[in-house]
Amino acid sequence: MTDLRLQHLTPDETELWAQGLLPAARELHLASCGECRVVGDRERKLFRELAQLPRFAPEFGFVERIMARVRIPTPSGSHLGPDPDS
Ligand SMILES: [Zn+2]
Repeated sequence: MTDLRLQHLTPDETELWAQGLLPAARELHLASCGECRVVGDRERKLFRELAQLPRFAPEFGFVERIMARVRIPTPSGSHLGPDPDS
């Protein structure tokens, strides 16, 4: 089993942290890893600067990213199976 506290944050996790959405378990790593804190601080700063831009619409990129990750599960069994009449 991998100890999450020893793993550096992924870019996705850094982004979550910048948004205050990182799970507490991963924040433990951040608390003990200066390297990830530097990266995280940079990301958070960038995030704030972007959020302050008048023309920046946070919802747009955010939703796009979420939608790119969300996969709607398709049923493996098809409703259009063999014709019941045959
Ligand atoms: Zn780290």
